[in-house]
Amino acid sequence: MLKDLKKLVIEGNRELPKLGLVKYSWGNVSGISRSLGVIVIKPVGMPYEELTMENISVVDLKGKILEGGLPSVDLPTHMELYRAFPECNAIVHTHSTYATMWAQACMSLPCFGTTHADYFYRDVPCTRILRDDEITDGYEKETGKVIVETFNGRNPSHTPAVLVANHGPFTWGKDVFDAVHKSVVLEETAKIALGMRIINPSALQIGENMMEKHYFRKHGPNAYFINDDHGRGRVSNV
Ligand SMILES: [Zn+2]
Repeated sequence: MLKDLKKLVIEGNRELPKLGLVKYSWGNVSGISRSLGVIVIKPVGMPYEELTMENISVVDLKGKILEGGLPSVDLPTHMELYRAFPECNAIVHTHSTYATMWAQACMSLPCFGTTHADYFYRDVPCTRILRDDEITDGYEKETGKVIVETFNGRNPSHTPAVLVANHGPFTWGKDVFDAVHKSVVLEETAKIALGMRIINPSALQIGENMMEKHYFRKHGPNAYFINDDHGRGRVSNV
């Protein structure tokens, strides 16, 4: 139901400042209902505490406003991801400090430890830098397209996060709180990775075996370490 999705998206957006992932209004959460053919997203520039059922933006799958205020300028990026990643039902964009450090350094986040391997299969990739023509014309849509290009040959459900070069992170998930959860984990792993590199600049990513073990004991058909990742028992927007 649209009402439930709106509630979830409002709550997901409000979590961002509470979790220390954003300052001011530097981030947005959206959710999609593929059955209703709508995307719900934070309105542009709106403080999180002012979000209501009336002003949260509802658009159709072409971006046409159906309800609420003007959608976030990042809507075209979200739309590209929803189009290309069919298992993605919610997207979070922030400029969280540590993940943004890696994005601005234009570096993928290597799998340096088991915390990372539990959530993200192999590295969290960094996109290529956008070309001038992509920045001039359709910048936000091109941002989405470069993310999709980065996942060519990779499963976006196995690595539900990306670092956009020069910019910051996007994460996604099966529902709003899953996507928010991935943003928190990405920020922590980015922070831990930086500290690890300071302590030992020559430290390498973990071994293949350890990487595979930690990811696949929690994900896929042979998983045996199952827990409710976001631990909230909330309704899903699927
Ligand atoms: Zn941004």
